[in-house]
Amino acid sequence: MRTHAQAVVIGGGLIGCSILYHLAKFGWTDVVLLERSELTSGSTWHAAANIHGLHDSTNISRLQHYTMALYKELEAETGQGCGIFQPGSLYLAQTEAREHQLRLQEAKARRYKMNFYEVGRDEAERLHPLVDFDGIRCIMYEPEGGNVDPSGVTAAYAAGARQRGAEIHRFTPATATEAQADGSWIVRTPKGDIRTQWVVNAAGLWGREVAAMAGLQLPLIPTEHQYFVTETIPEIASMGRRLPSVADRDGEYYLRQEGLGLLIGAYEHNMKFWAEDGTPMDFGHELFPDDLDRIEENMMRAIQRVPAAAAAGVKKVINGPMIWSPDSAVLFGPVPELSNYFCCNGIIPGFSQSGGMGKLAAEWMIEGEPSLDMFGWDMARFGQWAGKAFTRARVQDQYSHRFKIHFPNEERAAGRPVRTRPVYEMQKEMGAVFGLNFGWEHPLWFAAEGEPREETIGFTRQNWWAPVGREARMLREHAGIIDISNFAKYEVKGPDAEAWLNALFANRMPIKVGNSCLTPLIGKRGGIAGDFTVTRLAEDGFMVIGSGMAERFHQRFFKSVPLPAGTTFRSRTEDLGGFNVAGPKSRELLQRLTNDDLSNEAFPFMRSRQITVAGVDVVALRVSFTGDLGWELHCKAADQVELYRALLKAGAEVGAGPVGSRALMSLRVEKGYGSWSREYSPEYWPQEVKLDRLIKTDKQFLNRDAYLAVADKPARDELIMLSVSAKDADATGGEPIFLPDGTPIGQVSSGAYGYFVAQSLAMGYVKAGTAKAGDKVTVAILGRPHDAVLLAHPPFDPEGKRLRS
Ligand SMILES: Cc1cc2nc3c(=O)[nH]c(=O)nc-3n(C[C@H](O)[C@H](O)[C@H](O)COP(=O)(O)OP(=O)(O)OC[C@H]3O[C@@H](n4cnc5c(N)ncnc54)[C@H](O)[C@@H]3O)c2cc1C
Repeated sequence: MRTHAQAVVIGGGLIGCSILYHLAKFGWTDVVLLERSELTSGSTWHAAANIHGLHDSTNISRLQHYTMALYKELEAETGQGCGIFQPGSLYLAQTEAREHQLRLQEAKARRYKMNFYEVGRDEAERLHPLVDFDGIRCIMYEPEGGNVDPSGVTAAYAAGARQRGAEIHRFTPATATEAQADGSWIVRTPKGDIRTQWVVNAAGLWGREVAAMAGLQLPLIPTEHQYFVTETIPEIASMGRRLPSVADRDGEYYLRQEGLGLLIGAYEHNMKFWAEDGTPMDFGHELFPDDLDRIEENMMRAIQRVPAAAAAGVKKVINGPMIWSPDSAVLFGPVPELSNYFCCNGIIPGFSQSGGMGKLAAEWMIEGEPSLDMFGWDMARFGQWAGKAFTRARVQDQYSHRFKIHFPNEERAAGRPVRTRPVYEMQKEMGAVFGLNFGWEHPLWFAAEGEPREETIGFTRQNWWAPVGREARMLREHAGIIDISNFAKYEVKGPDAEAWLNALFANRMPIKVGNSCLTPLIGKRGGIAGDFTVTRLAEDGFMVIGSGMAERFHQRFFKSVPLPAGTTFRSRTEDLGGFNVAGPKSRELLQRLTNDDLSNEAFPFMRSRQITVAGVDVVALRVSFTGDLGWELHCKAADQVELYRALLKAGAEVGAGPVGSRALMSLRVEKGYGSWSREYSPEYWPQEVKLDRLIKTDKQFLNRDAYLAVADKPARDELIMLSVSAKDADATGGEPIFLPDGTPIGQVSSGAYGYFVAQSLAMGYVKAGTAKAGDKVTVAILGRPHDAVLLAHPPFDPEGKRLRS
């Protein structure tokens, strides 16, 4: 066994073997995989191993397509069979919402040239004569859908990795992982120790136990999951070909051919956790006792759809464990608080995603960043706040609603509240409807007396559409008070604070006390890793404000520039609360509460001061994400209620009131302001998001070389603004954009109704040079073409007069 390796992968399931294979393929050949038992000894060996290409997320669709193509390459490359069957998949919609979801996926497939299209009932019956299509309103077909052999695929990854020099040690558990001062690790096993640059936790069902060896707690819980296989069905035996799988998500089961019978699996509402407090180390190739009663309702729905299944006996039942994260997506990426420790845990559709995950994991370790934006799957999307109770409640919700549509803007209630601010109770009394933002409850909008406080969900405009419009218009016409406590806030102090910030961020830090600057953070590939406002509060003190949901994500970047001795960095997100008071009457409102001069001359745009508002000390910044005249006020959390009360009282006198984050979304889209993880992502270069003007190349900053390598390249995509002819549904993000002749040119990044400008709006990216201001395009809202026109400027205050007034 090697004593030194570039990476040690812990876990020889599907995922560990894929990561090992990709590391070796991309050039790291001195890599080792440790497996405590035989390969596939966790969830992998007993999986149904269905494979699909399309996903609501475009990047996941890309990874799934990569994976499906890879299995064939693996077979050719290694000679190891992967048991690939691709008879296709039929996707059925029973409801209008499901039809919207499928049509949107079909439009995305057209945009990305993936094979997924609508078929009529006749064609569907020809493809799958055993399905009763009554009650189905829309059918999509994916010719490449199917299934693979779990052991075959894992063995093929292993063979491909070994061919390239990787070592695999079976029956060799990792018993300890010890971080070394130089950033490397020692991994201990009964057969000896390995010193390695990277540790990869791919321990599947034991992901929690392996993480704990490094002092890490991962939000994961296993559940039982069942499917059964029928005896031979004569109609299938006489078919002479393999039948497509059936994705009848509204029926809450999955169904495909297995041998000459059917395989039917279900995510039942009455789900069952397993090994909540820890996966037993001696759990082997074991299954749980059958419990088909639990999935009876789902089975009955499957049988109704495919009546031939009713006559066949059950040949075998598989009831095995799988491990879930709170949102059922993988926990992916390097752990921000540790050096060189990579996680790939809690993956549910492993067989659809293994190749893509392995590829991106290898890119991340070898090249420093994955080639696709993985923010939505980054393990940093959860923090310490995602504890056991939260994880349990969310997993229960996720499992039992596995096939429920995840609607845009949907806020699930399970496990909440987890983190609240002092103003939470007050906001509740005021009618706030809350959303979850990196664990914090924050107001989405405020229901008026008599309005329901429960949101309806769907792809079309929902019950919050009108109240949000009321708030947005109030702010633009008078003023509004927005709780912005969920913004991430950092304090950098010390003699070299400026030097450190300059070494980190791409813009030059403000020289004068009281000045602020906007700055991008640059990623390893020269793209946008973040956008921040930095304010100089003192000669040696700065306040940095960034995206709240990216706080843990950004730690990776912050810690990669060493802090000079005597300079300190600390997060103030928890102990500072804040409000944005914005709108044409915001000055008048605030001036009622402070003796400090807020006139434009005394307190111009992009300036800051420490002032007293209603007796509360605040850091006031003359900025507003609404694009209007406004101030951000940041105060001690303990003063938040007092400040809020005073702002609301003074607000009432000028026609202002509370405004939630849904209205903020509409307001910033009207103004054309980009937002993290939508317009701004590591996939886009600064010149593509129009942030290159903020980059100062005459100084050093993090990943400057990466930026210089792309700086002179022409933009691949252009950020555009669209006015959309929409009646009952607005774009929400991800909808493809087509030229009138049907040529795909891009996709929406943010969409919202602009209440003040009375237009449905979308921001998005189109391939450079394909469309210009005034051109007509279509946007696939609800999967159907909606006419839109490219705007030359954002519709609200393009010259920035309001915010400078
Ligand atoms: C009944 C069922 C049906 C499923 N059907 C599908 C499907 O149709 N399609 C699909 O895509 N997915 C399906 N899945 C999910 C799929 O099985 C998982 O996504 C996948 O197997 C996860 O693989 P993994 O490598 O992450 O974890 P695992 O398979 O759990 O592998 C982890 C490995 O790590 C090893 N290990 C743990 N601790 C240590 C240690 N300390 N040292 C060394 N080795 C260690 C374990 O022995 C194990 O081999 C199904 C799952 C179940 C339970």
